[in-house]
Amino acid sequence: MLRSSTSVAVVSHTQRLCSHSLPTNYTSFFSPRNPLLSNSAFLKWKTNIASSNNNRFRMAATKALAQPLQNADELIDSVETFIFDCDGVIWKGDSLIEGVPETLDMLRAKGKRLVFVTNNSTKSRKQYGKKFETLGLNVNEEEIFASSFAVPAYLKSIDFPKDKKVYVIGEDGILKELELAGYKYVGGPEDGGKKIELKPGFLMEHDEDVGAVVVGFDRYFNYYKIQYGTLCIRENPGCLFIATNRDAVTHLTDAQEWAGGGSMVGALVGSTQREPLVVGKPSTFMMDYLANKFGISKSQICMVGDRLDTDILFGQNGGCKTLLVLSGVTTTAMLQSPNNAIQPDFYTNKISDFLSLKAAAV
Ligand SMILES: [Mg+2]
Repeated sequence: MLRSSTSVAVVSHTQRLCSHSLPTNYTSFFSPRNPLLSNSAFLKWKTNIASSNNNRFRMAATKALAQPLQNADELIDSVETFIFDCDGVIWKGDSLIEGVPETLDMLRAKGKRLVFVTNNSTKSRKQYGKKFETLGLNVNEEEIFASSFAVPAYLKSIDFPKDKKVYVIGEDGILKELELAGYKYVGGPEDGGKKIELKPGFLMEHDEDVGAVVVGFDRYFNYYKIQYGTLCIRENPGCLFIATNRDAVTHLTDAQEWAGGGSMVGALVGSTQREPLVVGKPSTFMMDYLANKFGISKSQICMVGDRLDTDILFGQNGGCKTLLVLSGVTTTAMLQSPNNAIQPDFYTNKISDFLSLKAAAV
């Protein structure tokens, strides 16, 4: 009896999480008739949807409970690439987590490819590169994939017309990446100080050349941006709605959890009654992109992260091995709660356990 009710809860919880990456009304703007999409872009989009639906069904299947990592060498030898989430895995705020440099050095010495993926869109790859450098880590810009970078990568993948503009609700990282990729944009931080002064008959103008609205984490979110983005999505034919992530909370300080990118996306979902395409975790877009770029098989990847509903789900949606570290937001109690449907393959305290578990195994 108990088992049966638990399994129903597991499926519905999982479906709710997976549905975040699926635009439920995608046919309205991702249709062959959308003037912004070429035929090949439409076909790519259909493939994305089919793959997401397969992931949804696969996730509903029963997953064995996560095992504590005991033999690090076995896991290391079984994959060729490690994808690391950053906050809670590599660093916490501005502090490096203990043992990280030595662990990354050991993995590189063993010939493993290292990739760093973050849902935080406030910085560009270059800006993240500086953060790694400041923390004393030797990480190449090419190894860093932030959701800010995923935005132009996605636009390129669907052949988004370069003569169209992107309206940005978000911070500097998205603007920098769009600029690097040669896309025109409006909005961003400069709309942070704009106010709407209502008077009878007032009408807000908007740019009819905006073909995509991108929403990421934005500390300067306001009603002007909501209304502008809403007008573009509702009134510009075929306008896309893209989210960098739908994270409920983020860690601006270590004193409490703060409203995350999902809160900004939620405002636009409310006003447009549309679901966005999510390019960050747990959507499979970045995983597909990485696998193609480096020519790696997803079964040869281990995704390492501190969040179940983004990192671990991202790895599982991509068909990778998964390792949860308890150095960030997830506790053992959360992992083992009967309400938690997302079970990684393994869990351990922090990534430097690779070194001690390795030493213990010798
Ligand atoms: Mg994290």
